[in-house]
Amino acid sequence: MLDHLLDDKAKQIREEARELVRWVPRDMILAMDKDEIQFPKEFLQEAGRRNLLGCRYPRKWGGRDLDWVTTCAVMEEVGTLGYIFACVFGVGAELVCDAIVQHGTDAQRAKYVTPLLRGEKFAAECLTEPRGGSDFFGTTTTALEDGDGFVLNGQKRFIVGAEGADYFLAYARTDPNPDTPGEKALTCFIVDRGPGVTVDYLYGLMGCRGGGAGRVVFKDVHIPKGNVVGTVNGAIAVFNTMMIPERLGTAAMTIGAARPALEVATDYTQKRKAFGQPINRFQGVSFQIAESAIQLDAARAMVYVTARAVDAGADPARIRRLVSETKKLVTENCQQVARHAMQVMGGIGYTNVFPIERIVRDLGLASIWTGTNEVMSMIVAHEWYRERALNKASAPHRDFEADAAEASAPGEKIFS
Ligand SMILES: Cc1cc2nc3c(=O)[nH]c(=O)nc-3n(C[C@H](O)[C@H](O)[C@H](O)COP(=O)(O)OP(=O)(O)OC[C@H]3O[C@@H](n4cnc5c(N)ncnc54)[C@H](O)[C@@H]3O)c2cc1C
Repeated sequence: MLDHLLDDKAKQIREEARELVRWVPRDMILAMDKDEIQFPKEFLQEAGRRNLLGCRYPRKWGGRDLDWVTTCAVMEEVGTLGYIFACVFGVGAELVCDAIVQHGTDAQRAKYVTPLLRGEKFAAECLTEPRGGSDFFGTTTTALEDGDGFVLNGQKRFIVGAEGADYFLAYARTDPNPDTPGEKALTCFIVDRGPGVTVDYLYGLMGCRGGGAGRVVFKDVHIPKGNVVGTVNGAIAVFNTMMIPERLGTAAMTIGAARPALEVATDYTQKRKAFGQPINRFQGVSFQIAESAIQLDAARAMVYVTARAVDAGADPARIRRLVSETKKLVTENCQQVARHAMQVMGGIGYTNVFPIERIVRDLGLASIWTGTNEVMSMIVAHEWYRERALNKASAPHRDFEADAAEASAPGEKIFS
């Protein structure tokens, strides 16, 4: 960890997160990976008892008035337990509660945020549909106004924590006019588990098992108007702020999930011998370890720079780019760290004698969920071109293009 990035308070909370990590029984990790535990309620209850869930929210709602830098330090530590621990830790406390704290009412915060942060209630976030996840605004789940509320119908897919959730944060189309673009037609709701809400299918996953990822079906579910988060047809505002915890939180926890792979591989390569010497004496091995250390530190640097930008209240468009860049760079770096770890350990790295194979399986999810890395590139490209145009228009700058010997070559600058 780059300790100088944290102040004393953040270090203290990180130490508390490490104590939680030490508390988790090994059997829980193994049972989750075998799908023998389908949702680790005891873990979230313990995290709640220790006041580690949602530490950046106001104390009034159960948080600790801390910042994003501290949140990232906590997410990194929780990630070391295994990616799915951080997924379930993050989905309820860091995603669902973020939407309610930022866009909800005091009544919603008291009813849904405070008990969740205490570890007494559990929640899941429902964006993805069987129809697709990347095209979020194409949502086809509907919620039509009906008297004092809405009637919700549709399905959501791959929902982490569906199995254990007491309530769901779900997005649905509320404007029935097909000509209205999704950006102006969706509403965000809190949906209590109750009549009409079922988890119809639990997925058999390659990794990240034990988090209760399921398909949630809503059939004629009555939602009171008081459960609208933000405004009717105004889900885009919620979606835009949710990008921060989704992408920055994912990035921070991914570092944690990859870190044990590097630590285990570092130890192994000093003990294992080949050709009469420890294998870390071979550059082919030690350079992979060095590469991993570089990738992990670069990932950390990016996470904490972005966290500081969010804490400082930087321009929302800049933050949109930064969190998307961070999610892509960090998840890809960490996947490589895990693959290097497996490679330098040879055959034994591919077995369950060491946890590397589980980490490799788990980290496959990192570049897919909370928006695929291709979607991250799409956002970065959009924001980058937009910023370039704005910068050109606003600030006087040196014309770098003219700094070429033949910059004015006649007839050579052909663009179409
Ligand atoms: C284990 C697991 C847990 C998950 N947890 C949750 C959860 O809790 N809540 C939730 O709402 N969702 C969750 N998801 C869903 C996840 O966010 C989606 O799977 C993801 O957003 C991609 O959506 P999709 O699977 O429908 O793929 P698609 O959207 O069908 O995409 C398929 C491929 O096409 C690419 N693609 C699509 N559009 C473009 C484009 N415009 N440009 C370039 N490439 C493109 C994608 O990058 C991808 O490679 C989870 C998924 C998994 C596997």
